[in-house]
Amino acid sequence: MAIASINPATGETLKTFEPHSSAEIEQKLQLAAETFQSHRRTSFEERAEKIGRVAEILENEKLVFGKLMTTEMGKPIKAAIAEAEKCAWVCRYYAENAQTHLADIVVETDAKKSFVRFQPIGPVLAVMPWNFPFWQVLRFAAPALMAGNVGLLKHASNVPQCALAIEDLFRRAGFPEGTFQTLLVAVQAVERILADERVAAATLTGSEPAGSSVASIAGKHIKTTVLELGGSDPFIVMPSANFEAAVTTAVKARTINNGQSCIAAKRFIVSAAIYDEFERSFVEEMKALRVGDPLEESTDIGPLATPQIVKDLERQVNDAVSQGARILTGGKRLQRPGNYYEPTVLVDVNPSTKISCEEIFGPVAMLFRVADINEAIQLANSTTFGLGSAAWTNDAQEQERFINEVEAGTVFINGMVASDPRLPFGGIKHSGYGRELSEFGIREFVNIKTVWINQ
Ligand code: NAP
Repeated sequence: MAIASINPATGETLKTFEPHSSAEIEQKLQLAAETFQSHRRTSFEERAEKIGRVAEILENEKLVFGKLMTTEMGKPIKAAIAEAEKCAWVCRYYAENAQTHLADIVVETDAKKSFVRFQPIGPVLAVMPWNFPFWQVLRFAAPALMAGNVGLLKHASNVPQCALAIEDLFRRAGFPEGTFQTLLVAVQAVERILADERVAAATLTGSEPAGSSVASIAGKHIKTTVLELGGSDPFIVMPSANFEAAVTTAVKARTINNGQSCIAAKRFIVSAAIYDEFERSFVEEMKALRVGDPLEESTDIGPLATPQIVKDLERQVNDAVSQGARILTGGKRLQRPGNYYEPTVLVDVNPSTKISCEEIFGPVAMLFRVADINEAIQLANSTTFGLGSAAWTNDAQEQERFINEVEAGTVFINGMVASDPRLPFGGIKHSGYGRELSEFGIREFVNIKTVWINQ
């Protein structure tokens, strides 16, 4: 079956691609294995020079890359351009810091000298999602290549043009062809690729079922994995918070990337002391969002990436309503071409129903009223996910409790959860394991080799 690039704002098919044949996959795996043998011997300086060049191209051509992302998966153009800029940032970060992060660590023992050396492990398969079609890939590739590994990308099947543009980006920056290759393949091909002896490890960003499947194949073949999966992040607001900033940030945190972000805030847990005012202001700001053509600079919310996502949202909202939830604004798809869904606010969602803890991918927010901090923490943790979390309070004791007791890979106090190349990123529970970014990310796909030298 052909892999299609379809504009979610219009439904128009932009391009189709034939998946790579078995022979082409074989050729690419062989090239990856051979290129690894030369790439692993290059110096940090050489790699940094080329990754720096990737950053330059991203910056120089951010409008072109931005437009490509927007027409292929629907994110507003402002956000798409910012994504290209952020990719340049992660490249520069690793170009400057990889050598320090991977420097030998001397450990005093009874040997004459003993130390830890970090070495690359080989071709790494990256299975990636469409929602940040450049960022997800670059945040894997920059540290992986700087560490001396080579990359194989199986991107989401609705963003083939982005996948090919990224492959081209590395080639234009001067990396030999086998250093980073895109495999245009369907999900069914992943098992064979991952089972191949030449592939050393895998990283997957995506849904729980996809993560579970890739991890079990990798487990069978004794290969390491990093999983960055879904989330149902809480956004908690306590009475001492800066109220206006909390409301505005809450709306942004829910609707960023048209609501299709793993770390979008999805459950708003608000102290009863300020709940009514928060609900009023939040609904007002959700209603004011401009929904429309994602190529327009003024658009806040564009179309969802695929028709299936609109169907999933409709099912989730209808289920919630049938179980007692009320819609304060939105609640239906827009009657126009493209995959548009109204910014929506749900209240009275029963915390014991499925929707209250499953991931909602789209501009649909749920508000919950809580009596105190104990109830806030208990509700925040009542999900199988544990990716990000935000808590708004100016009370130091409350801040400490949120930091210690919320079950998540990240806690932002008085802010919106966001990734940053300098800080580790990842989740616990069903949100996955392992970390990306920072020194922790670059150490995921290396052999941590112990060296012990006597006289
Ligand atoms: P998805 O359906 O799981 O797809 C992600 C990738 O996995 C795609 O390349 C997909 O290929 C592939 N895939 C799907 N099923 C697979 C299987 N059984 N075996 C191997 N590969 C498989 O997720 P999505 O809808 O694209 O992305 C949204 C999900 O990603 C959300 O749950 C979101 O929270 C999560 N996400 C997490 C993070 C994070 O950092 N934690 C960041 C962004 C997104 P096809 O496209 O060909 O199906």
